[in-house]
Amino acid sequence: MKCALDIEVREVEELYINIDPIQAGGRLTPAAMKSAIAYGDGYSVCDHCLSPFRLDYIRNPPIAQFHADLAAWLRMDEVRVVPGARRGFQAVASTYVEKGDPVILTSLAHYTEFMAIEEAGGVAREIPKDENNHITPDATAEKIEAVIREFKRTPPLLFIDHVDYQYGNVHDVRAIARVAHQYDIPVLLNGAYSVGIMPVDGKALEVDFVVGSGHKSMASPAPSGLVAATAEHAERVFRTTTAKGDVTGRTFGLKEVEMMGCTLMGVTVIGMMASFPHVRERVQRWDREVAHSQTVVDALLSIEGTRVLSDHPRQHTLTRIDTRNSLDKVARTHKKRGYFLSRDLKTRGIVGVIPGSTKVWKFNTYGLTEKQIRHVADSFVEIAREYGLNVS
Ligand SMILES: *Cc1c(COP(=O)(O)O)cnc(C)c1O
Repeated sequence: MKCALDIEVREVEELYINIDPIQAGGRLTPAAMKSAIAYGDGYSVCDHCLSPFRLDYIRNPPIAQFHADLAAWLRMDEVRVVPGARRGFQAVASTYVEKGDPVILTSLAHYTEFMAIEEAGGVAREIPKDENNHITPDATAEKIEAVIREFKRTPPLLFIDHVDYQYGNVHDVRAIARVAHQYDIPVLLNGAYSVGIMPVDGKALEVDFVVGSGHKSMASPAPSGLVAATAEHAERVFRTTTAKGDVTGRTFGLKEVEMMGCTLMGVTVIGMMASFPHVRERVQRWDREVAHSQTVVDALLSIEGTRVLSDHPRQHTLTRIDTRNSLDKVARTHKKRGYFLSRDLKTRGIVGVIPGSTKVWKFNTYGLTEKQIRHVADSFVEIAREYGLNVS
């Protein structure tokens, strides 16, 4: 079936259990889907935009209230919605980083952090991870010292991933932020894998910025996300324009430079808003999500030779698993090679494991029901048994 032309209807979420690492937290709620259809037209949220003509002041639909609610929810002072977490990094880096400045991130940092630093003319410097794939406060202090020696200046910004995309490990953000603050370095929390799926309290984490991804973790259409700041930093990152036309003398009021005036003007902001009540509620059920993730990991670990590379017991729903000494042994002799796994999973109604991968791979159990979790866990065990692997 086609939506239009050669564009096929996408029915992955209707027909399968999807454990794709990046898609789990972004699945829309029914409310977001309905609202997306109603607000699909271009500048659809602008019907009632009044002076000073800025997205976050619009009261109908209640976009202004949504901004206030988001800030309170994250315990930060100001929030703006942006087209993806990356645009949040970009706004902050472009404000704080001057050409040649060193900027600290980590050896588990997402590539979009590097891009934001590069675009601002900065030079990225990584805090090494330890043998447990953690970023420690000590390693942070050492790196800051080394960077100050190398560049003869203090980095203007530090990025820390709340939960890294490689292992799904939860990092000790508050302790790291405290180290950075001893050097007066503002801290940006990358909450792409936390904001919207688990509780996030910017004040308790003692960070200066919180960045979230709507389409990764807030059940929202792409591209969407948010950048939140403390009052102190909001003034800088959300500064208003001082531009003036030399011929016309025009000025542009309260438009914010880093936001290019307005950001999400239709289906994206409306989708975030429509999902927000559900999102706010679901983060309270994080413990259950983590337990579900553990159930699937336990099933995989019951297959002899399997190792979990993420923290164990699990503290997140994104997990990196090593099946080189279990499922990959099957791949070596199977006529479909590594593709047997994704095929056998699909036969059982499960998708999201990269076709062909049986060595080191990731999956995300976020949002599955009890029954679906049981089915995923049992399916891995069944597949292993079918090929004669030992299951304990
Ligand atoms: C997905 C991801 C991003 C990018 O998020 P967008 O909203 O797509 O820009 C950034 N950081 C991490 C850790 C991610 O997993």
